Amino acid sequence: MSMVIILVCRDSVDEDAVLGGRMADEDQGQELDTKIYEVRPSAGKGFGVFATKLITRGTQIIVEEPLVSVAMPEMVAGKGFKMMDMLSDLEREFQALSPEQQADFLQLHDFRFASEDKQSHLLTIFRSNAFNTGDKHVGLFPTIARINHSCRPNSGNWWSEKQGHRVIYAALDIQEGEEVTVSYIPLLKKSSERQQRLGQYGFTCDCPACQSEPGESDKRRVKISRLLETLEQRVYHPSMKADTNEKSIDKALSLIEMIEEEGLADYLHRAFKLAALFNKIGGHFEDAEMWARKALEILQWAEQGSIEAREILDFMESLAPGNLKENSIL
Ligand SMILES: [Zn+2]
Repeated sequence: MSMVIILVCRDSVDEDAVLGGRMADEDQGQELDTKIYEVRPSAGKGFGVFATKLITRGTQIIVEEPLVSVAMPEMVAGKGFKMMDMLSDLEREFQALSPEQQADFLQLHDFRFASEDKQSHLLTIFRSNAFNTGDKHVGLFPTIARINHSCRPNSGNWWSEKQGHRVIYAALDIQEGEEVTVSYIPLLKKSSERQQRLGQYGFTCDCPACQSEPGESDKRRVKISRLLETLEQRVYHPSMKADTNEKSIDKALSLIEMIEEEGLADYLHRAFKLAALFNKIGGHFEDAEMWARKALEILQWAEQGSIEAREILDFMESLAPGNLKENSIL
């Protein structure tokens, strides 16, 4: 497993100082030497997070607990979330923070629509920076909030329900000086739809996917979306015909290729899993194991022992010669 760097380290430095019975300066120096990223201005985007050295694929870059977490407000069709419902929770949580934490909160990007000049800053800062934390909550992660969006991100973004923290991990090698990027939105949409969605954060995306040959990337994303959905349904109702299943394997492989070409790191493990499942259905157990291993690798970058990772491990177990008779997919 790759090195884990947690920048929210004030607590850990203090703890070291107490446990080691010495001043924290030495540890702090070491911490700075090994820091793999820095937060600094990013042209036209406020702040950004940048690699201070080569960050290899699979490295956890930031692991952070939410500074504030509130219940997801009700969604009204066509109008979005009822943000005002969230305000009282947010005010209460904010009051419970230390002055330093409150300052961290208030320094974050605050995008406001023209109609919102009287709106609470807590609410608009929260909306501009928060991530979902599970199905029912939304959380603010002050360091992760500094990471800018790309529709072709170099990093994966994972919420661990079990650990109660969010993990940002390198999905690709990130070169020294390169900006770390994640996605704020579902990416299997056309550029125009993505831009509309990103409008709530107050910027127009100029990432490589949004600037690429008009139509090419859009077409591929729509195709990926359809194929992913079709195969994820079909895999649990496989055909009785061997050649239909062989075709599904080919489709899963072309899905992997398209996802890699489009640079959609967060979707890759799902395509690997499909390739594994269809190969098992087709009786190609070695290939099934190879693709399962690839899916597992990505899932474990994000979190060891997650439900998704355990499912893949169970699947791999099912491929062992003695277990194959069960004839179940997972
Ligand atoms: Zn973009």
